[in-house]
Amino acid sequence: MKSILQTFLLTELLGGLRLTFKNLFVRKVTLNYPEEKTPKSPRFRGLHAQRRYPNGEERCIACKLCEAVCPALAITIDSDVSEDGTRRTTRYDIDLFKCIYCGFCEEACPVDAIVETRIHEYHMENRGENIMTKEKLLAIGDRYEPMIAADKAADAPYR
Ligand code: SF4
Ligand code: SF4
Repeated sequence: MKSILQTFLLTELLGGLRLTFKNLFVRKVTLNYPEEKTPKSPRFRGLHAQRRYPNGEERCIACKLCEAVCPALAITIDSDVSEDGTRRTTRYDIDLFKCIYCGFCEEACPVDAIVETRIHEYHMENRGENIMTKEKLLAIGDRYEPMIAADKAADAPYR
């Protein structure tokens, strides 16, 4: 009987409308993403990048500490001695499908070469694009170096 009455009197519908109107004028807690964005910490762990020194030299010295510390085994490094006698990576791959964005690689790097940027809006369309090669990582580093350097500087007092 109660169920029949609820159906005819539309009590559930009215209850729902009451809730809607009640929240119509309260302060909004949602954002219209992607037009509006939440602030991000300088420690945000997003897409990886490889950095260079201001003279263009690669920072990475192929010490493989990042590869050793990575809990997801997402980093693969091959290295060799370069023409100028320094040790350099000949292959530096990060598999984004394996990566858990823990930031351990960035923490372990003695020369601030590998970093996780605040970039989080990226996608893959083709098979294999999940592998971030050295060239791709360096390109991201080159493009976003001012942002990466500013985030590093903002975080430095807390380290
Ligand atoms: S963020 Fe963590 S899981 Fe991802 S590559 Fe670095 S160490 Fe590995
Ligand atoms: S990115 Fe840093 S930790 Fe990884 S191999 Fe290069 S210098 Fe070593």
